[in-house]
Amino acid sequence: MDEETSAPVTVIGLGLMGRALASAFLKAGHPTTVWNRTAAKADELLAEGARWAPSVADAVRASPLTVVCVTDYPTAHGLLDADDVDLTGTTLVNLTSGDSTQARDTARWAQQRGARYLDGAVMAVPSTIGTPEAVVLHSGPPADFEAHRPTLGALGTVTHLGADHGLAALYDVAGLAMMWSVLNAWLHGTAMLRTAGVDAATYAPFARQIAAGVADWLPGYAAQVDRGEFPAEVSALETDVRAMAHLVEESRALGVNTELPELIKALADRAIAAGHAGEQYPVLIEEFSRPRQD
Ligand code: NAP
Repeated sequence: MDEETSAPVTVIGLGLMGRALASAFLKAGHPTTVWNRTAAKADELLAEGARWAPSVADAVRASPLTVVCVTDYPTAHGLLDADDVDLTGTTLVNLTSGDSTQARDTARWAQQRGARYLDGAVMAVPSTIGTPEAVVLHSGPPADFEAHRPTLGALGTVTHLGADHGLAALYDVAGLAMMWSVLNAWLHGTAMLRTAGVDAATYAPFARQIAAGVADWLPGYAAQVDRGEFPAEVSALETDVRAMAHLVEESRALGVNTELPELIKALADRAIAAGHAGEQYPVLIEEFSRPRQD
């Protein structure tokens, strides 16, 4: 067994995700210690070769690296804050979902307890863990990530985003914004087309092509956002807003929900009122970068 696969690792939390994480470590050859509140959830992992730790304190002691994946941050703190848990010198990787404030606060807490801390976000479903399809994001001190990259690499495509512990959580929520926005747009289009007897499966390939085409605009639009200059190279916002009005009117006429198109148009109307009619769509970053102004 080589260095990369012989490093021991502990997994605390054996829900759907935690079991997948522990299983991937085992498959990669890592001696894997596990702990879960409900012990029965470890049965299959123990059959695969995992070692059971009788307590959280034992689990943390068993390996230089402990991966935590429970419901939320308060649960993780509840487990690791116990007096008998000695975190001195250990590296904690918290793959529990949460927000950037929780991540940064937990990093400070871990440091006070003498631990090294990486925060993480799993951008994948359990069935993909251990394959390249599973993207697992990490943030925190680069040296701590590099020290455990070979072990963490067993989980899938692992990425280090930067030293700021909040980054993984921020990328996680940014990804959710992307996911739900695309899905909502697709569902809105589907609702409109169904009024004409076009089913969802017929529209889906067309919608996918649109989404992929829009995705191709991102690098150029990102350059405008980063420069803070939005010349109308393709289309001006005042042209876009006429199409938005058309989308709202068509939705209303068809009797489908108008909330999404109304929101899209309201944002553009505010940008135009602020003097951006002749600029290109990414100028809306100004609307997205501040709280709603009524
Ligand atoms: P889950 O199946 O509901 O498992 C929850 C885990 O938290 C279990 O190990 C559970 O222990 C433990 N837990 C909850 N309350 C506890 C408490 N008071 N004391 C001790 N342990 C407690 O959830 P999951 O799907 O594994 O998700 C875990 C984390 O991964 C979440 O933050 C989730 O957002 C994130 N995640 C999940 C997915 C996914 O597709 N499942 C994808 C990305 C990220 P018991 O077994 O004893 O109840």
